[in-house]
Amino acid sequence: MGRFTSRAIVESCLARIADTDGKVGALLSVRAEAAVQEAEAADRARAQGEGTSPLHGLPLVIKANLVDPEIESNCASKILQGFRAPYRAEVLCRLRAAGAIVLATANMDEFAMGSSCENSALGQTANPWNLGCVPGGSSGGAAASLAARQVPGALGSDTGGSIRLPAAFCGVSALKPTYGRVSRYGLIAFASSLDQIGPMARDVRDLALLLEVIAGHDEKDSTSLLDPVPAYVKLLSKLGDAPRLDGVRVGVPADLFDSDLDAGVQRSVREALAVLERLGAKPVEVELPHAQLGVAAYYLICTAEASSNLSRYDGIKYGLRVEGRDLDETYIRTRSQGFGTEVKRRIMLGTFVLSAGYYDAYYRKAQQVRTLIRRDVAAAFENCDVLALPTAVGAAWPLGERIEDPLSVYLQDVFTVLANLAGVPALALPCGFTEDRMPLGFQLLGRPLAEADLLRVGHSYQAHTSWHREVAPL
Ligand code: GLN
Repeated sequence: MGRFTSRAIVESCLARIADTDGKVGALLSVRAEAAVQEAEAADRARAQGEGTSPLHGLPLVIKANLVDPEIESNCASKILQGFRAPYRAEVLCRLRAAGAIVLATANMDEFAMGSSCENSALGQTANPWNLGCVPGGSSGGAAASLAARQVPGALGSDTGGSIRLPAAFCGVSALKPTYGRVSRYGLIAFASSLDQIGPMARDVRDLALLLEVIAGHDEKDSTSLLDPVPAYVKLLSKLGDAPRLDGVRVGVPADLFDSDLDAGVQRSVREALAVLERLGAKPVEVELPHAQLGVAAYYLICTAEASSNLSRYDGIKYGLRVEGRDLDETYIRTRSQGFGTEVKRRIMLGTFVLSAGYYDAYYRKAQQVRTLIRRDVAAAFENCDVLALPTAVGAAWPLGERIEDPLSVYLQDVFTVLANLAGVPALALPCGFTEDRMPLGFQLLGRPLAEADLLRVGHSYQAHTSWHREVAPL
């Protein structure tokens, strides 16, 4: 900021939204007037020497599962259509305090359950790189909005990959922080032991800007960590123009790069590893013996937690706020306005795995596998500083192709769920294209609270590559 007024930036984002969102469908609601007013206020503040944060006056998009009294937080679900919470999510308080402006809410899979955004009950989002393909999910609207260059930054949430998968499919950068690094206060819960809010943007430096503002202890979230937040942005600036990675050990779990993996993904991730090596990093082979069990454990744990979290939507509480009535009044929703198919499937599965007769066979087993995966990851970090993995098993698929085959979609999450199950941070970066010019990505996992290491490696990678600067043909 500096060269442009906030008002000019907000207006150019609104113009870009008007040009592109009819085709992309990334957004659920746009705060056009309010955002322009907030931008004018930001410009006035700056004229008086206030507002020194780099985010001051910048417009952002947020996933529709973050609450704010001024914004409809509907989780792309009919059951929450019209819902405005009486309080503001901690991350949004922090962004506002830094002067950022929430310009719009982004489409998502209903209650963040999905990998394509097609489980949204409120509209379809297309991939800006090919409007016939899915943008990924569940934070698909946020990723598509960034790829369509509607806004410079976004917040998503990641329970099993929902920030990273759409980032990979849309060619943008994204970070799932360590569990507890960012307050979940005001994030509508899907699976509380896995959920984490994180930044999405076009490059690692912008992720650092956002993370620095949203991270840090919050007493309103009992899982929030006390550790101080490093000055991520300064850390990256200190690296200079041609950062090196001498001495950084990059763990490569060789057995995850098996023959089943798409050839394009295989090639682009290996090329990314070769770039890191040229910068001085040292590849080391590591083992994650239980990684292949991750998807099964994840879907048992997340559905169990979801069945409990979503029991509050009983058709009586929440829902439409009718003008002139109190917020806490209750409104009976008709069945047709209830949950979509995927959400119902998960509530049923979750209720089943928690039931007395099956708890030991499924839920307890899944928790045991989770422990094994946590240990695998911790053991791998004894021999390396970051772990490199593909983000997705392939590129974005055609809209509609997998709607009847939820299992094939669940299996997409094999690489992303590991970071959530282990609670560690993971940075997703673009690293190439398929022959059809659809984006491909890789991810770097770090030790708990080692976001700074990930940002450093990611920033160095982006300083020597240009995948993140490629522009969708829109
Ligand atoms: N695709 C995963 C799922 O459907 C991840 C979702 C998420 O991270 N919110 O559960």
